[in-house]
Amino acid sequence: MKAAVFVEPGRIVLQEKPIPKVGPRDALVRITLTTICGTDVHILKGEYPVARGLTVGHEPVGVIEKLGSAVSGYRVGQRVIAGAITPCGQCHSCLDGHQAQCGGKPMGGWRLGNTIDGCQAEYVLIPDAMANLAPIPDGLMDEQVLMCPDIMSTGFGGAESGGIRIGDTVAVFAQGPIGLCATVGARLSGATRIFTVDGLAERLTISSTLGSDRTISFKKEDPARVILDATHGRGVDVAIEALGTQTTFESCLRVLKPGGVLSSLGVYSGKLTMPLDAFAAGLGDHKIVTTLCPGGKERMRRLMNVLESGRADLRSLVTHRFKLDQIEAAYDLFANQRDGVLKVAIAP
Ligand SMILES: [Zn+2]
Ligand SMILES: [Zn+2]
Repeated sequence: MKAAVFVEPGRIVLQEKPIPKVGPRDALVRITLTTICGTDVHILKGEYPVARGLTVGHEPVGVIEKLGSAVSGYRVGQRVIAGAITPCGQCHSCLDGHQAQCGGKPMGGWRLGNTIDGCQAEYVLIPDAMANLAPIPDGLMDEQVLMCPDIMSTGFGGAESGGIRIGDTVAVFAQGPIGLCATVGARLSGATRIFTVDGLAERLTISSTLGSDRTISFKKEDPARVILDATHGRGVDVAIEALGTQTTFESCLRVLKPGGVLSSLGVYSGKLTMPLDAFAAGLGDHKIVTTLCPGGKERMRRLMNVLESGRADLRSLVTHRFKLDQIEAAYDLFANQRDGVLKVAIAP
């Protein structure tokens, strides 16, 4: 089969690999659609280390090709997705509700395209299939559910971890795919005033259509000033960080009310420092929560339920389409953020 393989920093290359052997608890899924994540770009650049020779990708949509001998409740030919996070469903962390930290290790639930071969390939092996395979409802097309495994789950997770209540005022910093999903999630959670911040005009336009009440281009306005003025100095109840930089983290704190929640989704590198004035010297009753993409089949079922009900439609996030054969070109476009790209759909 063909698979996109991490060869060395700067090189993810399409190579031939054997179709994986199916263990008792696994399922072999033939990929019909997948996508590239910002995290894959960190892998490509060598900023996030994975083993050389690993197949990358953690957002699978496909059809069950083969089931392990211990897997029941599914049939070959069934359309399924699996989350980017594929928890075992059995360990202390999983049973404690922290599936993303499966095995008690930070990010332990993230296996696809991290510690085992991922899904930018013709086939992928889904581990612990009975905890992870989520059948796609007949009414939903592949492209409609492509955001579920990671982007939608992570973005919604930011809104959920923030504990947004009906009537809340929320700010979302960065409107990339995950930030846009956080905006949708905030709306669905009951936020009635949502500020969204980005530097790209096309992202702010989509942000408006997906639920932002006031878009702010940080290139034209000072987001903290705008948000504090608009809330009469009160600040927001929940600030969602969706990029992973010092600036966005700090801006979240600067617009957060005392007692508010900073819900952080970004992947940080280097060092994150705390501005003590905005942090009220540690006495502001602020809560800072972090979330790694929730996974597992029940999470996927819920997300697809949101789409099937028509409460959210994320198809506008898919801006470009490629064949698996063209994945190196897709990486080039996505990594360099050309042509207004948000998410690319890749079909083997
Ligand atoms: Zn991802
Ligand atoms: Zn587990």
